[in-house]
Amino acid sequence: KSLERLQKILAQAGVASRRKCEELILAGEVQVNEETVTTLGVKADPAVDIITVRGRRIKSESKLYLMLNKPKGVITSASDPQGRKIVSDFLPGIKERVYPVGRLDYDTEGLLLLTNDGEFANLLTHPSHHVPKTYWATVKGTPHGSALERLQNGVLLDDGMTAPAEVEYHDVDEEKNLTTISITIYEGRNRQVRRMFEAINHPVILLRRIKFGDMNLLGLARGKFRHLTPKEVKDLL
Ligand code: URA
Repeated sequence: KSLERLQKILAQAGVASRRKCEELILAGEVQVNEETVTTLGVKADPAVDIITVRGRRIKSESKLYLMLNKPKGVITSASDPQGRKIVSDFLPGIKERVYPVGRLDYDTEGLLLLTNDGEFANLLTHPSHHVPKTYWATVKGTPHGSALERLQNGVLLDDGMTAPAEVEYHDVDEEKNLTTISITIYEGRNRQVRRMFEAINHPVILLRRIKFGDMNLLGLARGKFRHLTPKEVKDLL
């Protein structure tokens, strides 16, 4: 039997946050095998025990953690009223509903995590959880060292100063007047990398996320996905 604390099982099934689930247990709203539990130390096996909240059985999906190499021109959401391609179009054989861990813009490509483990997704996208994310940004022109230093130190965006980032030149294409720069950020604001380069007057032409935490896209072709290994999942938390 693989026993876990009841509040953890409930949170992972998407019932509510772990704190809220503890409250539900204490309030006598949770049953294991038809017995109401009212204390917090109780463990259960989600694969075997019948767990209900106010009489309704929780979902007992197995947990899925996926990495997709998202192509550009794909929207990071569960549906699109305009009928554009969505990330689940790239997950053949996955019947469970999975949610993106953070977002990539429609025009951004690269590493995107998806999971049906709501607690995992919330943890990783919470502002206090500073997972490093590395991008290759191909920008117009060639930013001076001093401009890149501004990105490194923090630039003022309309939602406040950015945290320090790591920035490195990769490739200068003089003919096309483009420069590819790798940038690692520890936040996840909306369109953050694009806005940072706009702030130094070098708009992004192409954006690709190549790393999330320690994970990279090696061996994963554009448009393909794979399951994370248990170690990759553990290392993220
Ligand atoms: N920053 C952006 O500007 N866009 C993304 O998709 C991700 C990070």
